[in-house]
Amino acid sequence: MPRKLFVTTALPYANGPFHIGHIMEYIQADTWVRLQRMLGHEVHFVCADDAHGAPIMIAAEKAGLTPQQFVAGIAAGRKPYLDGFHIAFDNWHSTDAPENHELARAIYTALRKNELIDVRQVEQFFDPAKGMFLPDRFIKGECPKCGAKDQYGDNCEVCGAVYAPTDLKDPYSALSGAKPVLRSSEHYFFKLSDPRCVAFLEDWTQDGRLQPEVANKVREWFARDDTGRVGLGDWDISRDAPYFGIEIPDAPGKYFYVWLDAPVGYLASLKNLLGKLGIDYEAYMADPALEQVHFIGKDIVTFHTLFWPAMLKFSGRKVPDRVYVHGHLTVSGEKMSKSRGTGISPLRYLELGLDAEWLRYYIAAKLNARVEDLDFNPEDFVARVNADLVGKYINIASRAAGFLSKRFGGHLSADLGVEGRVLLDALRAHGGAVRDFYEEREFGKALREVMLLADRVNEYVDRHKPWELARQDGMEAALHDVCSVCIEAFRILSIYLKPVLPALAARVEAFLQLPPLQWADAQRALGHHRIGEYKHLMQRVDPKLMQALFEPAVTEAAPEADLPTLPGGEAIAEEIAITDFAKIDLRIARIVSAARVEGSTKLLRLLLDAGEAAPRQVFSGIASAYTPEQLVGKLTVLVANLAPRKMKFGVSQGMVLAASHADDKAEPGIYLLEPWPGAQPGMRVR
Ligand SMILES: [Zn+2]
Repeated sequence: MPRKLFVTTALPYANGPFHIGHIMEYIQADTWVRLQRMLGHEVHFVCADDAHGAPIMIAAEKAGLTPQQFVAGIAAGRKPYLDGFHIAFDNWHSTDAPENHELARAIYTALRKNELIDVRQVEQFFDPAKGMFLPDRFIKGECPKCGAKDQYGDNCEVCGAVYAPTDLKDPYSALSGAKPVLRSSEHYFFKLSDPRCVAFLEDWTQDGRLQPEVANKVREWFARDDTGRVGLGDWDISRDAPYFGIEIPDAPGKYFYVWLDAPVGYLASLKNLLGKLGIDYEAYMADPALEQVHFIGKDIVTFHTLFWPAMLKFSGRKVPDRVYVHGHLTVSGEKMSKSRGTGISPLRYLELGLDAEWLRYYIAAKLNARVEDLDFNPEDFVARVNADLVGKYINIASRAAGFLSKRFGGHLSADLGVEGRVLLDALRAHGGAVRDFYEEREFGKALREVMLLADRVNEYVDRHKPWELARQDGMEAALHDVCSVCIEAFRILSIYLKPVLPALAARVEAFLQLPPLQWADAQRALGHHRIGEYKHLMQRVDPKLMQALFEPAVTEAAPEADLPTLPGGEAIAEEIAITDFAKIDLRIARIVSAARVEGSTKLLRLLLDAGEAAPRQVFSGIASAYTPEQLVGKLTVLVANLAPRKMKFGVSQGMVLAASHADDKAEPGIYLLEPWPGAQPGMRVR
């Protein structure tokens, strides 16, 4: 019986281009979907832009666009990534589309009818200058725990503390810099603590449909206190105008919080697709055989294992059958930077001419069914592609194809010999295991299995040495058999790799002169068949390209849009009096000498002449921007009355002034201040 599958990936927030983490998730889901299709199952695989919410509204305003224009601009940039990495969504839609407005309202209305919506007064920070309530991410201030300045309203990036924005000391609006005021407003809540929701979710999350580690994590949220109350809180689903989103029916000026309508976008995209295909949406969803499968990252588990299934259940809809959670992508062991994604830009990867399927293969080789982070390691990448993919698999075809076309007109032998048949039978016998590994999202195990099979084929080639058979008289038939076995083995391995390597599989199909390979084709013998001319199927990775990949890209704008654009990346500091400024004694100083500091990659040791009796020693963190040679003889500005600071390398007697962006990853660069010509060492800057 063919399965009927509705598959989604998480909706990317439409405030910037894809980063490599998105691409990793799409590769995982796309590979799984391609397997299902090769098995003859029916799949509708959809995604959409998550278009709503305050960050997009604010980013659009900064860009001088309407939110709709802003989101359309982001959506227009999606295609090169999706095509480039062979991600075959059937539909790409938007949560701002009419289907989503309609579905979100219908779900809400049903929840309300079910008495699962509550209205309560909520006190929240309001920006009087902007005239709007501030989302947590747009309130900054001093961490209540460690005192670090400029921390976000929800957690401290210095000490990791989690708190409410009202706990911040000296809070300010990251939008206007204004001091926010507490204001009360009516908010709409989804009553997740309702016994019906709790009972349903306790069952739904623990009935085996979730990965064990996810189910265990979720179980903690159902822990009861002494009075028997469940720790599950109600969910605030409304936001006040101005807000870019879907207005709540019967509540003018109130909008659905973006996380309410975002997952509804799965259904909206599906409905839009089915409309184009002429399939009735309601009938499609009502089919009890339909399986609804979501691929998501570990950061959005709450939304997909509590809110989303409960919304669906209590609005009388089908609930998800599977939520497959994956870990995050790290690069050489480092976590992704919020503003840069990671060191790998997917577009740069493609622009450099790196083969998209190298990345698909590498990511698949490292993926498993658990919620583990996956590390991209450049050396490992090169090794796996060159040694395994090209060295073990592609080589099988390249070693045999030439003899077949030159000596036998491309015709395969149907005999193959006993040893050849045994080998091919063994390859076929492993098809079920490879398929099951893919099905269970154990892609790494699937590919390991395929590479072990490739090893066996290569051993066979080495035993029979077609290049020697080709030189011996009377060995034509043996040569023909050995090369035909190789091609048949190569075809079977190509089928096993096709979910991961669809474009390569298409080239293989053209070379072998075969229609698109299906999973079941591995079990059938080719018999009398004529193959085409072998053309090189895949290059090896040049390690130099890897280096280029990790150099900072100059062409791509940093996707900074999840934060409001602030001058130099930070809000203007608190106002001070002229007397405060006068306390800082700034002097012109000449750099007499400059030298690298042993044991530090950041610091330079400067000797500065500020018109005093003796030069001063200052350690400055500018080694990434300047060589000592560039600096000697230049004038700059010195903070002359800064308390001396004892460092590992010696005492620093002051500080030189330099400009930099607050986020040095997004906008690297340090610019030392230099006065106009004529200034003399010792002159005060005021
Ligand atoms: Zn802190």
